[in-house]
Amino acid sequence: MPAVHPTILFAKFEQSLSAGGWQSLRTSSEHQPRDYRIWRGGERLDLKVYLLTLTPGGTGRPKDEWRIQPTAAKIFAQGADYLTVILGYDEDRDVFAGFDVKAHAGPLGTSPSIQIKAKALDAAVATGLALHVKSSAELVFAIKPGFLGLYIEYLRALHDAKVDPAELTLLVDMTSDPTTVSQTDIDGAVTTPERKRVLRTILRYLRDRRFRAKVLTAYAHQCAACGIQLELLDAAHVLPVGQPGSTDETPNGVAFCALHHRAYDAGLIAFNTSYELRISKPRMAQLKTDGRDGGGTAFAATLKAALLLPSKPSDHPDAALINKANAHRGFVFS
Ligand SMILES: [Zn+2]
Repeated sequence: MPAVHPTILFAKFEQSLSAGGWQSLRTSSEHQPRDYRIWRGGERLDLKVYLLTLTPGGTGRPKDEWRIQPTAAKIFAQGADYLTVILGYDEDRDVFAGFDVKAHAGPLGTSPSIQIKAKALDAAVATGLALHVKSSAELVFAIKPGFLGLYIEYLRALHDAKVDPAELTLLVDMTSDPTTVSQTDIDGAVTTPERKRVLRTILRYLRDRRFRAKVLTAYAHQCAACGIQLELLDAAHVLPVGQPGSTDETPNGVAFCALHHRAYDAGLIAFNTSYELRISKPRMAQLKTDGRDGGGTAFAATLKAALLLPSKPSDHPDAALINKANAHRGFVFS
């Protein structure tokens, strides 16, 4: 398998950060490592990035192993004012591997090779983020592009999870199946507030990714309110996350385009247990009073009379959840 050219690898790195909402600026022209400043919202990080092609095993190594060979680096740079990010990239799976610099702190020798199991790379294709616990007690992560920014933001917390068996178990469980771990499990097992926040955020991301995939598949990648596809879709929660009874299962989901998702969350539109779609009359009246009802007629014309439902009845929004959601948003059907 030929190595992917560094220019293409680093372009993939930048695109992956961008997909997760991060902006990046290259601050050196060298390849290994290449310096970056990345930022999102109020968060800003300086990085030294080693990024190499992942290739299969090599002679005498197990067949289920993939590796990077950082031959150009004599030692991985480490410093207090930047994060060292060591990545491999598997073009076929479109998955990164993230290695722990602490486990490779010394001189690398003449033919260095750092491994990850194929199983972890495959698992990340399904879940977004997966874990390979190496016998040397290094945690290696397999990372889909959309998770790369999150991985880098929580790099130290993630790799250091190996020191606490309870935390490691949670991380293994949630990356295998995020529905088996609850926020309460995290609060019970993790002691420091910062690490709690990290694990809670990772769990939320994993659950959102799974929820999105299930809901968009059920609705055939089509907005349930207007029928548009065009990759403009979100998986909306019927009853919002954090409300008692809210779940990340398909009966609490509906596929909406960006416009109708926004309108639904704002209480401008809703649907009842017969799946009839309505615009909120009180909300429209208020908007008219405020002089902000422009486009109202065109907006109303985009709405179908009823939700475009999934073919499987078990995927339809749940009646009890619909009623709770409408009560929560103060939506009155008339
Ligand atoms: Zn729509």
